[in-house]
Amino acid sequence: MVYTKGLSCRVFLLFFLALSGCQTVEYTGRSQVNLISESQEKQLGTEAYEDILKKTPISKRSDWQTQLQRVGQRIAAAAARPDYQWEFKVLQGKEVNAFCLPGGKVAFWEGIMPVAQDDTGVAVIMGHEVAHALARHGAERMSQSMSAQLIGQILTAGVGMANPALAEDFAQLYGLGASVGVILPWGRAQESEADHIGLILMAKAGYDPAAAVGFWERMSKVQQGGKPPEFLSTHPSDETRINQIKQWLPEAQKYYKAQK
Ligand SMILES: [Zn+2]
Repeated sequence: MVYTKGLSCRVFLLFFLALSGCQTVEYTGRSQVNLISESQEKQLGTEAYEDILKKTPISKRSDWQTQLQRVGQRIAAAAARPDYQWEFKVLQGKEVNAFCLPGGKVAFWEGIMPVAQDDTGVAVIMGHEVAHALARHGAERMSQSMSAQLIGQILTAGVGMANPALAEDFAQLYGLGASVGVILPWGRAQESEADHIGLILMAKAGYDPAAAVGFWERMSKVQQGGKPPEFLSTHPSDETRINQIKQWLPEAQKYYKAQK
């Protein structure tokens, strides 16, 4: 009965990992299970960022690059993660999209800059994307979908993040997979959480969180021509999203007023 024995060991291992990997998301207090360590996650983020910078040219709009740096530094200060090595880059392309990888690697495509309109609009997007990274949504999604075999490999010293399957899963989560469009969209709960924490981050950085309502109204108009990856179908409907944001605004306004 070697098989049975092996199976029960694996079940035990998963149970143990679930216990040891249980964490609480800052600001919202939600519990999550993460089987990937933060250092592994940051390493994946750095590698995926290097990869995309090799494939996608940087925007020549120096005004946008400067703007992203300016807003990015303030959001980074609000995020209070000195262990992150922040980078902010505008990439060439019409995509109405942006991301922040674990470790603080941020990119906006040119296509989203006119929707952002100004520094505050950039802060809405930046706050949202940085929130996905801070709340470790990538690791959480991967932990949920990981096979026992993959978990075993992660735990094996030396294999870790070099595992191509893991790197590909990670890239797909952030919409950076080899086949664009075949991404694993964030869950609704994660998306709402990123909105919620994003409002707090922008407020702490000194941007009026009330501007998020106008931004998402502008986004809802852009989306009619085909929804961009990060803001895909499982996201809350525009109406739900804006209503939720209005409910969180009083909380975010406290942070905004506190830093003024
Ligand atoms: Zn999102």
